[in-house]
Amino acid sequence: MNKIKSDEILNELKNIIPNPVCELNFNNTFELIIAVTLSAQTTDKRVNEITKFLFSKYADPLSLSNAKFGDVYEIIKPLGLANSKARNIISISKDIHEKYNDIVPNSLEELTKLAGVGRKTASVVLAVGFNIPAFPVDTHLIRMANRLGYSKSNDPIIVEKDYKKYIKKDDWILAHHLFLLFGRYHCKASKPNCLDCKLSKYCKFDH
Ligand code: SF4
Repeated sequence: MNKIKSDEILNELKNIIPNPVCELNFNNTFELIIAVTLSAQTTDKRVNEITKFLFSKYADPLSLSNAKFGDVYEIIKPLGLANSKARNIISISKDIHEKYNDIVPNSLEELTKLAGVGRKTASVVLAVGFNIPAFPVDTHLIRMANRLGYSKSNDPIIVEKDYKKYIKKDDWILAHHLFLLFGRYHCKASKPNCLDCKLSKYCKFDH
């Protein structure tokens, strides 16, 4: 990889992905951090179906922190991992209400102190919620880095560092969305759409 090749890839991706934005629905950063927490190992579409009801019942950190575990569990059960997700979103709400006066913190350090919030979730909140340059790396971003030659690693921290060698800070948020959506809809883990792929000349994937 080099910076010229990386710019070419990003330009191609801009043509392929017409609307590179987060697909989770949210009205504020509180709803965003809850939605991202719920999105582990499920689809954004399913999360949106659930959060529509969840946020109509619990609209702010105080109401969700006072929610009964069993009630929250029942609502989010279809998303899987409901035990830990219910525990975490109640705890996150409590901390945001009690420690941060109902305002979601905007630093990686503070965000990652919240229950169940790792570097990827915190980076999504920074990038999508606050427009602060960050580069969230999930399974799609790792796969794209490996296939397109940004990184040989499967470790998200190393992959993030490798992307950042070639992509300037101002482009981190856009690049994250482009790689994620390309991985989600075009270059899927199994059966990638290689036949008419405009990135095939850069691709290291063994077809
Ligand atoms: S050629 Fe196939 S594996 Fe390579 S980037 Fe395109 S879709 Fe993905």
